[in-house]
Amino acid sequence: MEHQDKPSKVKTDKNTKSIGRFLAKIHKTETCWIWTGAKNQYGYGVLTVQYKLRPAHRFSYETFVGPIPEGHDVCHTCDVRNCVNPSHLWTGPARENLLDMCRKGRHRSMPNAPHRTGEAISALVAEYMRCHPLAKKRGAA
Ligand SMILES: [Zn+2]
Repeated sequence: MEHQDKPSKVKTDKNTKSIGRFLAKIHKTETCWIWTGAKNQYGYGVLTVQYKLRPAHRFSYETFVGPIPEGHDVCHTCDVRNCVNPSHLWTGPARENLLDMCRKGRHRSMPNAPHRTGEAISALVAEYMRCHPLAKKRGAA
């Protein structure tokens, strides 16, 4: 019987170089890791990894926390778009990302967001709480 260890680190040298470039572009504050590199039109940090442009916060999550489940978004607990601190990142279905925006009052800028009642929001907050501590726990490991 083998002990199952999930690989927590990306192995290839190419990725190690990418991580080095990634870390060189971070300005660490007391709470957030502010991305000082390039940004896309939405204000999210981006970096080139193996000739592909990748969102910096997704790269951070995959590098320091773990794989992003398919169909999930990487969200911020700190509401700072260009923050790449892995302990501020959590993954959830796109729906929960929407909730995150609703909670923070940004839904007005999202024309497709349905109008939610207080009850529906509470139910979604419960879902959010299930997702969020998990991401935090893994980020701190
Ligand atoms: Zn942050």
